[in-house]
Amino acid sequence: MRTFRIGGIHPEENKLTHEVETVAAPLPKQAIFPLSQHIGAPAKPVVKKGDRVKVGTMIAEAGGFVSAPIFSSVSGTVVKIDAAVDATGYRTPVIIVNVEGDEWEEGIDRSDKLETVEAHPELTPEGIVESVKAAGVTGMGGAGFPTFVKLCPPPTAKAECVIINAVECEPYITSDYRLMMEHADEIVVGLQLLMKAAKVDRGYIGIEVNKPKAIALLTEKVKADPRIEVVPLKQRYPQGGEKQLVDAVIRRQVPAPPAIPVNVGAIVQNVGTAFAVYQAVMKHKPLFERYTTVTGKRLAHPGNFLVRMGTPMRELIDLCGGMPEGDNKLLAGGPMMGKALTSVDVPVCKGTNSVTVISDSEARRKPADPCIRCAKCVSVCPMGLEPYLLATASAKQMWDKVEAECITSCIECGSCQYTCPSHRPILDNIRFGKSKVMGIIRARNAKK
Ligand code: SF4
Ligand code: SF4
Repeated sequence: MRTFRIGGIHPEENKLTHEVETVAAPLPKQAIFPLSQHIGAPAKPVVKKGDRVKVGTMIAEAGGFVSAPIFSSVSGTVVKIDAAVDATGYRTPVIIVNVEGDEWEEGIDRSDKLETVEAHPELTPEGIVESVKAAGVTGMGGAGFPTFVKLCPPPTAKAECVIINAVECEPYITSDYRLMMEHADEIVVGLQLLMKAAKVDRGYIGIEVNKPKAIALLTEKVKADPRIEVVPLKQRYPQGGEKQLVDAVIRRQVPAPPAIPVNVGAIVQNVGTAFAVYQAVMKHKPLFERYTTVTGKRLAHPGNFLVRMGTPMRELIDLCGGMPEGDNKLLAGGPMMGKALTSVDVPVCKGTNSVTVISDSEARRKPADPCIRCAKCVSVCPMGLEPYLLATASAKQMWDKVEAECITSCIECGSCQYTCPSHRPILDNIRFGKSKVMGIIRARNAKK
């Protein structure tokens, strides 16, 4: 069975909501749209206080080449263009809309009719890329890279295949799994559109073997297209990392940054992104809602929801029976790579695949002991790094040293910290060092 070749761990799954069918979350009373929901330049508002908007109205345009427009997920009145705390913990610019009714923009096809690529010979690669760009589609797995940029590789690289990331190896999260079980046909068409846009004849869907029903369903759905293969993968974290997935599926290793998967021929897109591409191209629907898991062992009714973006997380937690008594830690994402939040009023954005509530006892860290040089962190690092060394050198602010030791290759998977018997804050130190070194590299490049 295929998997990636370096490092990896097997954390407890805790997929509490695997078999919980997705339901549409009610409309929020007020929707909050951060202008930075993607990697790249923030979007620029094109509405002002008092403007009326519908579901699917563009409220902010792309702010540069690597950027994406933002669309209202609700109908109502723009009440404020302000700043509010987002998932980063900082106050960032937002557009706030008071919800009134549920009026959609004309032109969005709301029917369930499945559109196929064969039925639309008029679609060209350039047309698909343009539709994806105009609909504001960005990576739905959390990183939020604008999808159209990935479909236009630099002239030095040549795409040979598209790999759909259906791994969902992060504990607790099940939104991608539910999407596969409930919209497999649309995901396959989304992959075919991505293949056409990238001008490649090979497509893969990588799924871990803990999702046998999804493997069986998608294998059945791709039978008619011999260009596509469903690849069952051995269960191992962090297989959902792009570089790990490329290695697992096509046995090619992506070199250190600035290399990206397309440098070895692969374009990787999340399963939710494939669905969003289908909706953008075939249904003329911009990206304004997504599948999100709301989970945690102490929640009364954890579940999977189709959520209009901009909905405050507090309203989703209330749907699951409310915040449990006592102290809790709230995460946007799962326990391995999720971001700890400072407020329950942070809105769901394009990259919010999960809202996870961890109890105080689960979240509390044990006091750090001295490093015992066991090298466990080295053996689990999927990037072949020496985490103990990077962490120590970062703490000592030895920036030349950590740059030379490839700190920028760290994918922040947390495997090192998870496995450390001395409970050392390895990832905290590495994140600090990585952000410093990236700043130094940016400044150096700007000078050049
Ligand atoms: S967080 Fe970074 S250093 Fe630690 S295991 Fe993951 S890739 Fe390696
Ligand atoms: S796992 Fe922890 S104790 Fe072992 S070498 Fe790494 S930092 Fe040191």
